[in-house]
Amino acid sequence: MTRFAPSPTGYLHLGHAYSALFAFEAARQTGGRFLVRIEDIDHTRCRPTFEEATLDDLRWLGLFWDGEVRRQSEHLDLYGQALDELRRLGVLYPCFCTRKQIRAEVEEAGRAPHGPGGELVYPGICRHLSEEERRYRQRQGEAFAWRLDIERALALTGRLQWFDYRAGWVAAQPQLFGDIVVARKDIPTSYHLAVVIDDHVQGVTLVTRGEDLFHATHVHRLLQALLGLEPPRYYHHNLIADSQGRRMAKRNRAVTLRHLRDRGRSPEDIWRLLGLVEVGQPARV
Ligand code: GLU
Repeated sequence: MTRFAPSPTGYLHLGHAYSALFAFEAARQTGGRFLVRIEDIDHTRCRPTFEEATLDDLRWLGLFWDGEVRRQSEHLDLYGQALDELRRLGVLYPCFCTRKQIRAEVEEAGRAPHGPGGELVYPGICRHLSEEERRYRQRQGEAFAWRLDIERALALTGRLQWFDYRAGWVAAQPQLFGDIVVARKDIPTSYHLAVVIDDHVQGVTLVTRGEDLFHATHVHRLLQALLGLEPPRYYHHNLIADSQGRRMAKRNRAVTLRHLRDRGRSPEDIWRLLGLVEVGQPARV
């Protein structure tokens, strides 16, 4: 069982088409099922019109999926239960920091540890708050996120690994990211938590996605272990670049399927553009 899980924050571009076709073909070649999931938990960036356009573009590409489309925004209670479970395990703590505070703290310390994607690693400010202070600040109505105490979590799970069809067995290193946010201040979950729960609930056995998300899998493996979920296998595929060799972005209109379609390109043209084969033939991946 594979899935394509776009976020409706813009129109699909050629990179998405590649990813969707990749997942579709992987399911088809192994006689498995292909699912579509809309990752729309970020209400500040997602739009229903983009969701409609996404499904429409997938249909136009000739893709069909099994069962209903799952929408993450409809399952917040499920992510809330997982959050409760993590809290019971004692691996979460409330974090009241603003981005500005975090940046200031990191600058003052004179070193800026960065995660695999170049993001700032949280310096652990709120990890050291007393229970009393936590409770007081929560009672005062101060906004807070829930962070995962990576060290505590790893002490519970021990060493972990996951399998990627290109990289082989990979030793999980979630500590590269520091104490990640599992529930945001404005959204009661996070990409990492929702994706792990959904892949489990939907019975996904092979997660195919771009290699830009390779490192996120370190965190996903840890969450799976904490929540007692069987890990799927992974295939992080290469990313498609535009004609200038740049990574594709939703804001670059020229590479959106919508635009290409309006310019008279056919789905077969898209498959060919992506270096895949004709519709109806298994793709070389
Ligand atoms: N929703 C993510 C994105 O659009 C993909 C998540 C995943 O495949 O795990 O980038």
